[in-house]
Amino acid sequence: MGYVPKSDSFPVRVGLRCGTRQGCPLSPSLFALMIEPLAVIRSDSTIKGIRRGESEHKMSLYADDTLLNGSEPLKTLPQILSLLGSFGKISGYKINLQKSELLPINTAARLITFDSLPFKLSKDKFKYLGIWVTNNYKHLYKANFIPLMDSIKQDLKCWRTLPISLGGRINTVKMNILPRFLYLFQCIPIFLTKSFFLLIDKLISAFIWNGKNAHIRKSILQRHREHGGLSLPNFQYYYWAANNVMLYWFKSYIEDLATGITEDVWQSILKNIHLSSICQRHRVIQFKVVHRLHWSKVKLAKFKREIDPHCDRCEVEPRTLYHMFWLCPKLEDFLEVYI
Ligand SMILES: [Zn+2]
Repeated sequence: MGYVPKSDSFPVRVGLRCGTRQGCPLSPSLFALMIEPLAVIRSDSTIKGIRRGESEHKMSLYADDTLLNGSEPLKTLPQILSLLGSFGKISGYKINLQKSELLPINTAARLITFDSLPFKLSKDKFKYLGIWVTNNYKHLYKANFIPLMDSIKQDLKCWRTLPISLGGRINTVKMNILPRFLYLFQCIPIFLTKSFFLLIDKLISAFIWNGKNAHIRKSILQRHREHGGLSLPNFQYYYWAANNVMLYWFKSYIEDLATGITEDVWQSILKNIHLSSICQRHRVIQFKVVHRLHWSKVKLAKFKREIDPHCDRCEVEPRTLYHMFWLCPKLEDFLEVYI
């Protein structure tokens, strides 16, 4: 029996006889309402989460997939178990502890014996929302991208000989291959090398042209239909978009220059990369600077302690991109002549 509140009178009593049907659009919303009280874990001060910068991460709740982040496991875990027990008693929703997994991340946590706990202990990784979460950041690529690449390789090999038209093959890439990669691009913010995208392009080209030589260049196929292409997805662009790289460039330049950049100005900046010099090396440097891929000393010093982040010329200010090319007082004379 349940009660539905009404604004102008007493709550209405309704009989609970059946749930929602399989696939009913109402069911995720109802489930979210029901599971929300479990989020009380966030406000419990005895449960210590993982601190990164100013924020403390304790829990991620997505439908019935729950992820808890905790430090001081010997104190935190009994409290979590008692809260889960109370939640189960009140709501009638029992969490299957045998199916739950515990992953110790740092060395101190790995030394603790968790025999008395009802969780399954995983050594190096667990799956959350279809993503393998590894105990080391460096293993994310191997655990997620390599198995996906293998399964896509297998699928494309099977589909290659099917009688599908060129348009059908491109649509297959758009509707099947792209979403599978895009989900990982969005969920795992790691650096992917150019060779990774070259490998994807190679697999896709072999599928589109059935292992034979390409009849139309990839760059033409990737153009928008209005520009004579077939809108074949460019995976690297999707990767950049998923990681907000464009937004990052824009925001960073706007912050540095303390002025807005209009779409037209940005387009002319991109055009100038290739017009400013006939030297290929200079063009690459321009490209890297515009896209902020050129690593300034300030950026390098964050990874390597032995690197001095100060400017080589004035030896005073930090050598950021903006300082290197514009702000450094030692550049004044040079810029006065040329600008
Ligand atoms: Zn300087």
